[in-house]
Amino acid sequence: MPPAGRLLRTCIVVAGALLGGACAKTEKETSEGSALLKRPNIVLITVESLRTDHVGCYGYERDTTPTIDAFAREATLYENAFSVTSWTLTSHASIFTGLHPSAHNVVREKDRLNDSYKTLAEILADYDYQTAAVVSGPYLKKAYGLNRGFGTYDETPVSPPKVNAHNDITNDRMEIRINHFLERVRRDGDPFFLFLYYWDPHYQYVPPPPYDSMFVPEGAQKPKKRPEFHRYYKLGRHITPAQLEYVKAQYDGEIRCTDGYLKKLFDRLRALNLWDDTAIILTADHGEQFFEHGYLGHKYGLYVESLHVPLLVKLPGQKVARRDARTVSLIDLFPTVLDLGRCRVPEEHQGRSLLAEPRAAQEPTFYELVAIWYAKRKSTGEKWSETENWFAIRQGDFKLVWQELAGVTELYDLAQDPREVCPITDGAEELAADLKSRIEDWRAEMKAVSDRGGAPTQAVLSPEEEERLRSLGYLD
Ligand SMILES: [Zn+2]
Repeated sequence: MPPAGRLLRTCIVVAGALLGGACAKTEKETSEGSALLKRPNIVLITVESLRTDHVGCYGYERDTTPTIDAFAREATLYENAFSVTSWTLTSHASIFTGLHPSAHNVVREKDRLNDSYKTLAEILADYDYQTAAVVSGPYLKKAYGLNRGFGTYDETPVSPPKVNAHNDITNDRMEIRINHFLERVRRDGDPFFLFLYYWDPHYQYVPPPPYDSMFVPEGAQKPKKRPEFHRYYKLGRHITPAQLEYVKAQYDGEIRCTDGYLKKLFDRLRALNLWDDTAIILTADHGEQFFEHGYLGHKYGLYVESLHVPLLVKLPGQKVARRDARTVSLIDLFPTVLDLGRCRVPEEHQGRSLLAEPRAAQEPTFYELVAIWYAKRKSTGEKWSETENWFAIRQGDFKLVWQELAGVTELYDLAQDPREVCPITDGAEELAADLKSRIEDWRAEMKAVSDRGGAPTQAVLSPEEEERLRSLGYLD
């Protein structure tokens, strides 16, 4: 059980952060404070590939997210939340360990988290939380080891072998399995931690009717051939603005469809009288590119459209909207969830609880990616691949993006250029060199953590599972 002193300290931190001091509490705030005296249920939701700027409460003009927008009216919206990377497996490994990718080292497509790393669910289970997950994407399958600590880990919604997950619709299966947990598996008495991963907005955007036509603007043109990951560069060269509008409209349709299933989830939590006692965290594993930096999809860079994610946190009993402008990272969810659950946070993690003191304005944040391109020469059938190690650092108004193997660095002034389209070319060599050396120092620190924790093992996948990943453009 948690040490009493720790529990008291956490209560003070949580209540202090939530209530913003002791003066002039409103009735609503008082009810939030009393809800925090109990250990809350915690629901953590990741939505695949959800770009912040396609979410209504983050300013999108289309009505893609009525449920998320309504949720934001009783949650804290983090304006500047970033994933540590731009693809699924690595991002979730960081969420579950509170570590940067090169610390846990789950960075390649068959990496399985080393058993030495204690996961969020394992710690919560140690504190008598009932732990459960329902997931619908292939990189969250048990083979990758991220199921450790979950008493129930339901991967039923993942597309079956031989079904191309890109073309599949999994939200309805998510709903069935979530309800199965809430109504049949959940125990009364102990609080629960429920992790949910909604896959459907993943490339290549095939929403069911009516969502496939909901956002298609006049003049948009359906591409003759549906784009696929390994053809991204060809499409990128030839896609017309009218075709790109159509592709974006399909992505928006996927988001709207998924948002409808979030409504079903939230309605069910209310119907079961769980809403007020439950902390709900909603985010995305990473963003998505629409050729802003040359590619379609994700896992191809560390620019803002790939890293900026929506993050909304409803504390137990919270009834009012708040906004928080500080820069936060998805690795911060690890200590945040443990603080919410009154659990002792292990020393070896790299996040900063959202319920504690914020980062200083000049404290840097780091991002990284091992990107592997696969291709086949049409003429000879020869397969080839290319790897790039990407790193990025944000510090104050500046961001440096470094492609290590190509030897390319780009420095951006985020105050002038928040979409990172015009690298600074002159007069900032000293700053660029300083930021790069910070990345190098930080890499040495991450390596020390990784050396203590151990290398990833290899995920054991069935031939069908390997084939499925291949069909998604991974593996080879
Ligand atoms: Zn993903």
